[in-house]
Amino acid sequence: MFTGKTKNLGVIGCPVAHSLSPALHNAALQAAGLDYAYIAMPVEPASLGAAVAGLRSLGFRGVNVTIPHKTAVMEYLDTIDEDARIIGAVNTVVNDGGRLCGYNTDVLGFIQALKDAGFEPAGRQAVVLGAGGAARAVLWGLIKEKVSGIRIGVRNPAKAQPLAEEFAGTVPIEVFDWQQESFQRGLSQAELLVNTTPLGMYPRLEGMPPVDWQYVSPGTFVYDIIYTPARTLFLQQAAEHGCPVLNGEGMLAGQGAAAFQLWTGQLADIAVMKKALRQALQDK
Ligand code: NAP
Repeated sequence: MFTGKTKNLGVIGCPVAHSLSPALHNAALQAAGLDYAYIAMPVEPASLGAAVAGLRSLGFRGVNVTIPHKTAVMEYLDTIDEDARIIGAVNTVVNDGGRLCGYNTDVLGFIQALKDAGFEPAGRQAVVLGAGGAARAVLWGLIKEKVSGIRIGVRNPAKAQPLAEEFAGTVPIEVFDWQQESFQRGLSQAELLVNTTPLGMYPRLEGMPPVDWQYVSPGTFVYDIIYTPARTLFLQQAAEHGCPVLNGEGMLAGQGAAAFQLWTGQLADIAVMKKALRQALQDK
C-alpha cells in the first residue's frame, strides 16, 4: 500500500514501456519490505532537462536512465561517478537531498555476474566482440579487474579504434577485423570471450558473431551479455564445444542490484530480481 511516506523511484527513457526495470525493482523492494514505488516514465529527448528538474522538485530518490538519455542526462546532474565519467554514460541517478549524482552500474553488473559464475578476470586474456555502448562498460570493467590484455573483434575496425585509444595506457588493447584469419587464430589465446553485439538476440535467433571454434580452447569462458534468449546460438555452440557459458541475465540483475543498493542502502535479493526478470520476459 503506497502512502504519503512512500519514496519514489523509476526509469526514464524513450520508449520505456518495454523496460524490465519496474518488474525487477518492485519485486526486490517488496521482498525487502521497503516503502518505495518504481515506475516507468517516458521522456522525449527535448524534455530531458525539464524531466530531471522535475525529479528533483518531486523529491524522487532516484531513477534509472535508459536509451536515448544515458549520455545526454549527464549535463543536468551535479556530480558524475568515475565509472560513468569514463564510460560516458549514466544508467542510475541518486538524489541526495537535491544533489543529483550519476552512476553507471553496468560495469559492476557485468563483473559481478562473471565472478559469481566462478571466473576471476585478473591476469587473464580477454577477447571482446563488438565495440558499442555496452562494450564500453565491459572493457572498463575488465580493465579495472586487471585483465592481462584485451583483443576487440569487430566488423568495422576503423569505427572501433577510437574506443581502444581511449583506454590506451591501461592494459594492452588492440582492435581487429573479426573476419581476418589472424584474429580467429588469436582466439586460441583467449581465456575469456565476450559477445557484446546484439547478434543472436530475439527475434533474430539465427545470428551470431563469427567465431571459428576450432581455435577456441574448451577451457575458454564464454559470456554473451544478451539475455533474450537465455541461450543464444553463440552460447549453444560454445557449450557444444565444451566451454563454460554465461548469459546476460546476471549482468542485468546485477546492474539493478547495484542501483537498488545506491538508493536504499540495502543489498537486493538477486534471486528475487532474476525470478522477476524471467517472469516479465515470459509475460511479454
Ligand atoms: P550498440 O551500442 O548498438 O553496439 C552494438 C555493437 O555490435 C557495435 O559494435 C556494432 O557494430 C555491433 N553490431 C551490431 N549489429 C551488428 C551486425 N549485424 N553485425 C556485426 N556487428 C554488429 O548496442 P549496445 O547498447 O552495446 O547493446 C549490445 C547488446 O548488449 C544488446 O543485445 C543488448 O541487449 C545487450 N546488453 C545487455 C545488457 C545486460 O545487462 N545484460 C546491458 C546492455 C546491453 P557497428 O558499430 O559496426 O554497428
